[in-house]
Amino acid sequence: MDYISTRGDETRASFVDALLAGLAPDGGLYMPVSWPQLSAGWQADLKDAPYTEFAYRVAQAFAGESFIEDELRELVATTYAPFDHKDVAPLRELEPNLYLLELFHGPTFAFKDFAMQMLGHLFDAALKARGERRTIVVATSGDTGAAAVEALGGRETLDLFVMHPEGRISDAQRRQMTTSTASNVHNIAVKGTFDDCQRILKSLFADDAFRTKISLGAVNSINWARIMAQTSYFLSTAARLGAPAAYSVPTGNFGDIFAGFVAKRMGVAMGPMVIATNANDILHRTLATGIYKVEGASATLSPAMDIQVASNFERLLFEALDRDAGTLKSMMDGLTTTGEMKIPDAALAMMCETFLSDHVSDAETSDEIAKTFEATGIMVDPHTAVGLRAARQQLADYNGPRVVLSTAHPAKFADTVEAATGKAPDLPPHLAKVMKLPESFDQMAADASAIKDYIEARI
Ligand SMILES: *Cc1c(COP(=O)(O)O)cnc(C)c1O
Repeated sequence: MDYISTRGDETRASFVDALLAGLAPDGGLYMPVSWPQLSAGWQADLKDAPYTEFAYRVAQAFAGESFIEDELRELVATTYAPFDHKDVAPLRELEPNLYLLELFHGPTFAFKDFAMQMLGHLFDAALKARGERRTIVVATSGDTGAAAVEALGGRETLDLFVMHPEGRISDAQRRQMTTSTASNVHNIAVKGTFDDCQRILKSLFADDAFRTKISLGAVNSINWARIMAQTSYFLSTAARLGAPAAYSVPTGNFGDIFAGFVAKRMGVAMGPMVIATNANDILHRTLATGIYKVEGASATLSPAMDIQVASNFERLLFEALDRDAGTLKSMMDGLTTTGEMKIPDAALAMMCETFLSDHVSDAETSDEIAKTFEATGIMVDPHTAVGLRAARQQLADYNGPRVVLSTAHPAKFADTVEAATGKAPDLPPHLAKVMKLPESFDQMAADASAIKDYIEARI
């Protein structure tokens, strides 16, 4: 499969080029030139298949030309070996026709491990084959950074710099990053919001000289390979349930839910997908009004979704505009100068056919955690609670299985869960250990040029 940019550069990139570059040279995001189609009967064929088979099929469809079959199978098996549940992405029935898709059985207890573990192996294989090194810079709202440190720490082929917004992530999230002893890992606590971190990352990429000099790479959810890896659990869920499911996806950067859209494009039958947001509800407002308008990000109980500029929304826009990159580019340029853009009517109609949306307040989030615990004895993390509440509100009439993506382990957000339920969630042993180790990180202003100097001094 070849890849092109959402902003009009039609120079075709191979999977490995798109993987290593992250962002296309014209500032757009990489998209496959076409959507691979699942064969008729795939669902019945794979009904009882292990998770790795789904992951392999998807990777084969999008990256098959870049790896030999055995290598890809091996890579997928290694990726999911550290997960601590035999089903990797198990479904848990909460109520009749309401399921949690548990995506927190990886090493850092959030769904980011699904893609990041695979990316670690993909990067290593690709860089070794090319005899190259990369400097990876990550902006994180908490979970991506932890997953990246776990997946990339200690690898000889790269240096890793992780920017997190100081004081805006949970203790467990921060400690999973800052307690790493790997010499290639550098943590930066940025005085600002996640959007500041993401803006700095984009400006590092926009600086051609700097980007080339340090061989900059990105593992943020703008990286196509992340979306690819996340697509697999929409296939495994569809095969297990055997009936078209509706989904509710706690959404920040629009990566996870876009993976669901990819599955749909590949031929997975599904009902609506709910974009579940917290008070940072730019996507909910966009679907309701047709105007994508950036406002200030506010801190909520579900910090991984405290995002205003949802990077992967550009990918949906590209599809909704029938891949008209010229129109997309002028809309994105307008967004940069005015802070808003109007979605053309036809594109908005296409989005509203596939997606529903909702926003869930902190009070509703706590209430959902409390009620779920009371009714079922199951503790859900605040992000999952946002998805659950949105599913109850938006999918009440859906006549089939409803699946809420459970994106993090409750122990990662122990304070919020304990405040709502009156009981502290059990800490998985690995997390308990991390909570006691010494931390190391540097604090910096939200200033791209200072951060460039910091990086250059350390590679
Ligand atoms: C990253 C994250 C999200 C949001 O996912 P996006 O792909 O950015 O939309 C939701 N919940 C948790 C726990 C996360 O870590």
